[in-house]
Amino acid sequence: MEKKELMYEGKAKKVFKTEDPEILIVSYKDDATAFNGLKKGSISGKGVINNRMSNMLMAKLEKDGIPTHLVEELNDRETAVKKVTIMPLEVIIRNISAGSFAKRYGVEEGIVFEEPTIEFSYKNDDLGDPLLNDYHAVALKLCTWEEIDIVKKYAFKVNDFLKKIWKECGVTLVDFKIEFGKLTDGTIVLADEISPDTCRLWDSETNEKLDKDRFRRDMGGVEEAYEEVMKRLSEKA
Ligand code: ADP
Ligand code: UDP
Repeated sequence: MEKKELMYEGKAKKVFKTEDPEILIVSYKDDATAFNGLKKGSISGKGVINNRMSNMLMAKLEKDGIPTHLVEELNDRETAVKKVTIMPLEVIIRNISAGSFAKRYGVEEGIVFEEPTIEFSYKNDDLGDPLLNDYHAVALKLCTWEEIDIVKKYAFKVNDFLKKIWKECGVTLVDFKIEFGKLTDGTIVLADEISPDTCRLWDSETNEKLDKDRFRRDMGGVEEAYEEVMKRLSEKA
């Protein structure tokens, strides 16, 4: 599998075409951004960790019946994936209050919910990824009712599986963002990435933050946190 022309360069990854029109190569960078690109920096070694971690988790999810875009890991930073048309929705599941939820509703971080919540935001950098509900998504023709029902079902299943996997690693899955896309035949698959960039991961005993919040909040120990969660996952896998 060889990289052809660059199709897209995002904040954290580059996406290349290949000789196969159905397959793309994703290349993970160390670049980090937060607050809709306002804060910029770099987390040394992040691309390697996110590539490996996302692939390990997606392979597990695939085995558990959730279709994903994963084809094969090519090297440290690069993975072949099925090309999808991304649904322009960020799907966010929360098990514990944190981040923008805590801010928006004026509550502290760390409230454990009896049931997970789901929310969507419109993937649109110019608008700052505004929140929307399923009616809005259908009205804007971002997806159909059938599609959003599948997305919701998959998202909660992903949460159940990931919560379990992370618990075995001594890590609490607080919240995460996932993206879905459509293959040419319309099949909906989990795409993009699952990593400390896109999940909040807290040490189960100390609640220490082991994710991108260390970068967002200038807490230091960012690289170490990414390495720590990767190490724990590798030891359990
Ligand atoms: P952003 O666009 O937010 O800056 P990235 O730097 O992670 O994000 O860029 C990766 C881009 O590739 C994202 O826009 C993501 O939606 C898209 N993408 C992820 N997986 C696939 C896939 N399988 N097929 C097509 N596009 C994908
Ligand atoms: N998230 C993400 N990309 C985004 C927004 C959020 O990966 O563009 C993840 C974030 O890492 C967290 C979860 O989604 O795990 C919920 O984020 P939140 O809405 O609290 O927003 P934030 O605090 O990142 O502004």
